[in-house]
Formats: sequence, C-alpha cells, structure tokens
Amino acid sequence: MITFLSGGTGTPKLIRGMRAYVDDREIAVVVNTAEDIWLSGNHLSPDIDTVLYLFAGILNTETWWGIRGDTFLTHEELLRLGEEEYIAVGDLDRAVHIARAAMLNRGLSLTSATARLASSMGVRARVLPMTDTPVATWVQTDAGPLHFQEYWVKYRGKRNITGVMRRSEEPPQATREVLDAIRSSDAVIIGPSNPITSIGPILGCEGVRDALKKQDVISVSPFIGNEPVSGPAKALMEASGYEPNSAGMQRLYKDFCDIVVQDIRDPVRIEGSVQLDTIMSNKEKSIQLAGEIISLVTQK
Ligand code: GDP
Repeated sequence: MITFLSGGTGTPKLIRGMRAYVDDREIAVVVNTAEDIWLSGNHLSPDIDTVLYLFAGILNTETWWGIRGDTFLTHEELLRLGEEEYIAVGDLDRAVHIARAAMLNRGLSLTSATARLASSMGVRARVLPMTDTPVATWVQTDAGPLHFQEYWVKYRGKRNITGVMRRSEEPPQATREVLDAIRSSDAVIIGPSNPITSIGPILGCEGVRDALKKQDVISVSPFIGNEPVSGPAKALMEASGYEPNSAGMQRLYKDFCDIVVQDIRDPVRIEGSVQLDTIMSNKEKSIQLAGEIISLVTQK
C-alpha cells in the first residue's frame, strides 16, 4: 500500500506513473482541499477532481484540470448572462460540482461525497479529502486579502503577495480515513506538489505530522534551483519565509521526511538526497520516475 499526499498537478503526474507498478486498490491519495470553493452555486474541489479524473482515465492531461474533450457551453452562457464565473468550468466537470454540492447540502461529509463520486466513476483507488472541516488558503496582497483561487485564477498570480493564511472556523482535523491510510501504508510519497498551498494544508490537519513521523516518507522536490517547475510556488514560499527551492522544502518537511528526491539539474545541495530526472513531461517519464522511487522504497 502506498499513500500519496497530493495537490493537483505535480503529484498526480507521479501517480500516473505509479499506476504502472501498483494496482489502484493499493493506492490511497490524501488530497488538499484548501483550494475548494463554492462557485455559481456548486462545489469545486479542484485537487480532488484532478485526482478522481486521473484514476477514471478522463483527466485532461494537457492542463491537469478538467475533463478531456469537455465543452464550455454553460460557462459561456453564464458569462453572457453577466455572471462573473472566473474559473472556466467545463460542462461535464460542472456536473460533478453539482453532484458534490447536492450531497454536501444533504449533509454528507466531503469524504463520503468523494467516495460516492469515486465509485460512480469506477475509481478503485482511495481518494481521501485531507479533512471534512471547511478550510481555505488566502493570500495577503497589495490589494488586500484574496482567496487563493482568486489570486491565481482571477488575477493570474499578478499580485504581490506578502503573506499566506489558512482560514477555517475550527482547526481542521485529519479524517480517520486519512490517518488510517498513512498508518497502514508501506510508504508515504509526497510528490512534487506546492509545499505551501498543496502540502502545507494537509500537514496543517491535526494528526497528520504525528502519523508521518512514524512512517517512511519520501518527498520529491517541485523546484530546480530557485524556481518551481511551474506555478506560483516561488512567491508563496518567499511570502511564507522559506527559500523557494529544495532546501526550503526540506525545512518544511524536516521533522518527518526520510528521503528527499531532487531533480538531476537542481544545483541546490541537500545532504543525503537522491538525484533523479523528475521532469514528467509525458507518461513514460512519469513511469520511469515512479519505478525509481519504488526501488528507493524497497531498498529501505
Ligand atoms: P496545484 O494544486 O495545481 O498547485 O498542483 P501541485 O501542488 O500538485 O503541483 C504544483 C507543483 O508541481 C509546482 O510547484 C511545480 O513546480 C511542480 N511540478 C509540476 N510538474 C512537475 C514535474 O514534472 N516535475 C517536478 N519535479 N515538479 C513538477
């Protein structure tokens, strides 16, 4: 059993490769929910959707969000009607958000709603929201505080950020399912996901860090030198007081991480790290990296 901690791009790329070696039923994925948002009356859980669509074989792997071949008729009509839907939601994708919203409104937990969606999509891996407590990542910007989705999607990351906050009415608790998955797995893999907005919220759920300390944990860096492979991780690391590189990531994970994997092109020195080609530009490269990571787990 392998458990991943995941956001919506880097780690899913690694999971895509791992599926060549490990049956989906032996994979659990603890997924960030701090980017969740209610939009046009429905519930988007962007990272959960990416992971569900990946296992269901319908993910658009050009963008790493949304459903391959989806249409955007409803989105376009909403804009024409004057609704400010700042995320381009596809029609089929929207059906999932509608179904999730309906289940949450009927009183189901996010964990149960996700399990039902997974089962309807034929997903056999365990896709686990990190918590059932609503929680959101906000950033402090020149123009005041913004929900992370607004900062990244609406303003395309073009705002200076000076701080990162997590907002929730009560401290987020990891679910029993999440802690069970971490405890019962042979290894926990943190793929190359954003340490602040994707992995940070998972680590912030009560119980996760303690469970990780008792496990073999491997983390793959999303940085090469002082730049992430893609996305806003640099500004977020800096605004949180960390170097935007593999050393900064290691500092964030140091109390539980056993093996750091860096890219072979990464000039940042980390004692004891393993250097591999981590750029998963296609499925074959994902499979190659996943194979190398499995050998690290079995060597331990
Ligand atoms: P998000 O939810 O879309 O932000 O997705 P994640 O947090 O899961 O992944 C974003 C991170 O993935 C970024 O910081 C990128 O640097 C990293 N990333 C994306 N593709 C790759 C890749 O092929 N290799 C590595 N090493 N990192 C990657």
